[in-house]
Amino acid sequence: MWSRRRFIESVAALPIVGGIAAAVPAPAAAAGKGRDLFKELGVRPFINAAGTYTAMTASLMAPEAMDAINYASKHFVMLDELHDRVGERIAALVRAEAAMVTSGAASALTLGTAAVLTGTDRKKIDALPNLSDPAGMMKSEVIIQKAHRFGYERAVRNCGVRLVEVETRADLEGAITDRTAMMLFYNNNNKEGQIKDEEFVALGRKHAIPTLNDAAADVPPVENLWKYTAMGFDLVAFSGGKGIRGPQSAGLLLGRKPLIVAARQNASPNGNAIGRGMKVNKEELVGMLAALQAFVEKDHAREGREFERRAQEIKKSVDAVPGVTSEIFVPEVANHVPHVRVSWNRSTITLDPAAVVRTLQAGEPSIVIRSEGEVLVIGVWMMQPGEDRIVARRLRQVLEGKA
Ligand SMILES: *Cc1c(COP(=O)(O)O)cnc(C)c1O
Repeated sequence: MWSRRRFIESVAALPIVGGIAAAVPAPAAAAGKGRDLFKELGVRPFINAAGTYTAMTASLMAPEAMDAINYASKHFVMLDELHDRVGERIAALVRAEAAMVTSGAASALTLGTAAVLTGTDRKKIDALPNLSDPAGMMKSEVIIQKAHRFGYERAVRNCGVRLVEVETRADLEGAITDRTAMMLFYNNNNKEGQIKDEEFVALGRKHAIPTLNDAAADVPPVENLWKYTAMGFDLVAFSGGKGIRGPQSAGLLLGRKPLIVAARQNASPNGNAIGRGMKVNKEELVGMLAALQAFVEKDHAREGREFERRAQEIKKSVDAVPGVTSEIFVPEVANHVPHVRVSWNRSTITLDPAAVVRTLQAGEPSIVIRSEGEVLVIGVWMMQPGEDRIVARRLRQVLEGKA
């Protein structure tokens, strides 16, 4: 915050010329609170009718998180001591043996993999991602089901490991060698016809190979916070800044104590570690804890009914447009909250979905939704109170060709 303010003040100190003039805050505003920083920067906020997408800044922090962040910003503490205490509290809250705050679920994947590879061996921690460093030869393969290949496995490969694809149980057992470091599971793709979560865990146990489950976007339901560690996964990763509404740059790594200890050693503030650039500051530590507490304690049934009501509001509005059909659906695992899918008869309404997305974003207020091929997908859970009505009205206007 301080550096951002200094940046804006240094802009304000420049002579007022051409395009800069618009961005220069009025002197009174520059001195005090209540400034419209995004306006000063020429960045336009929008109504998030999409969901918890990182590129859209994902979620708004819980007020409890902001209070904790403001509190922490006024004090110095020893970072490792705070990490320890926050980790203990989080572990108790989610019934895990141990826990740590990471810089996002992606960092949890990297640090969890690093922990499995290095343990607490300082030489190995220094050598990573060079797995064949003479100072500490490490295992080099991570087994994953073919159907579980996903966009974030890069965070695992950052540690220098190679992914070995398998499809059946026999494949998996045949792929295990003395090079096998870990078995990686992508929770969202836990489907019939594959090796399902419990069997995957049992296979890991049988062969003494640690298992890591990426459940980044998989709350609600809140029970998922303890379901997978209880099932026996050695490590589980969650995003802090999606449904939990903690800092967007925070995440959780939950699991067995020796692995969390090793993950911590691979992370900031330790220098010469693969995770040194994945720093979590004291504000994020307490902000994450506060957000998690609020999330665990909140009335999820009530919130679920509110999401359903918003979805109905939008559905009702678009259904009134001739040629338009819509349905409410809840994704099975990740983003497990009501969404609205909207499509239309293209001979009645010639608009293509991408054009509707663009029109809504360019409009006033700016609204961001997603299109998936020929349909629009509206996520309601990141909306602020009252925004569902605005989205319902604007969407209808655009589909009616009145915007
Ligand atoms: C969002 C996501 C991540 C990355 O999470 P961050 O908290 O943004 O680092 C990793 N894996 C999956 C499956 C995700 O959905």
